[in-house]
Amino acid sequence: MTIQSTVQVRCGHCGKSYEAEIYSAIDVSSDPDLKEKVRDGSVFLLECPHCGTKALGKGEMLYIDPEAKQFFSLVPAGFPGGSPEDPTGRYADYTTRLVRTPGELIEKICIFDAGLDDAAVEMLKFVTAQDLDGEPEGTLRFLCLNGADNDLVFTFPSGGEMHTVSVGFSAYEDCAAMIRRNGDLLPKGLFPEINAAWIDSFMK
Ligand SMILES: [Zn+2]
Repeated sequence: MTIQSTVQVRCGHCGKSYEAEIYSAIDVSSDPDLKEKVRDGSVFLLECPHCGTKALGKGEMLYIDPEAKQFFSLVPAGFPGGSPEDPTGRYADYTTRLVRTPGELIEKICIFDAGLDDAAVEMLKFVTAQDLDGEPEGTLRFLCLNGADNDLVFTFPSGGEMHTVSVGFSAYEDCAAMIRRNGDLLPKGLFPEINAAWIDSFMK
C-alpha cells in the first residue's frame, strides 16, 4: 500500500515554510512510475516554492515491490522507529533489508533488479576499494551491469568528483561463492542490514 502525506517543511535556504508531499510507504505495483522516481532519486527531493532550493526529504519509508519480492525499510540513522514486523508471515518469501539513506535504498533496488546478491556485492566493493589507487573517500556504490560481459560498474567519490570503476563478473562470482560457503556470516533478523559496516566487521 502506498501512503502519502502532507508535511510542513522549513526551507534551509530562505527560511520560509511550505507544504510538501512525502511518502511513508511505496508499493510500486500500484504505480510503476513511482519505481522510476525512487530509482532516479526524485521521490526524495523536496523543492521550495519560494526560492527553488531543493532538499532531501528525511523520513522513514517502506519500499515494497510485490513482483520482484523486495521489501526494504528505510530508517535514517537516529530515527527511533524500528523495523516493521511481519506477524502473519506475508513477506516470508521477500528479500528484506534495512537501509539508512535513500542512496542505500536505490542501490539495493539496482543490485536485486540486476539479479545480484547484495552480500557478494558488498564483499566485491570491499576488495575493489582495496585495489584502487588512492583510497576512495567514500563507499563504492553499485550502479549497473555493463556490456556483453556483465561487468559491474561502481561509482565512488574522490578528489571532489564522482568516478566509476568496472569490475569483471568473474570477480563477483568469486565473492558470491565465498558468501555461499560462509552463510553464517550473514546477519540474522527480519530486516538485516547488509552494508559496508557489515563487511568491515569481519574483513578488517
Ligand atoms: Zn526557500
